[in-house]
Amino acid sequence: MSGVLQGCTEGKSTPRLVEVKCPKCGEVMEVFIRMDGEGGTATGTTKSDEKCPKCGYVIPEGTPLEKLTQA
Ligand SMILES: [Zn+2]
Repeated sequence: MSGVLQGCTEGKSTPRLVEVKCPKCGEVMEVFIRMDGEGGTATGTTKSDEKCPKCGYVIPEGTPLEKLTQA
């Protein structure tokens, strides 16, 4: 068989917890950011779907951090 899932590589790249504002209602919410940039640059994408606790808006996995407003 082939097609091994490779989503469980723990320890190599530690996701960062970043506070951003909900694009819909402005509520501050925390999202996990997977850092992709070399040398710790401040770029990255959301590691998973993150749901706003207030309005229920979902920031989908893979959203670039630069498209969000940091709180
Ligand atoms: Zn919201």
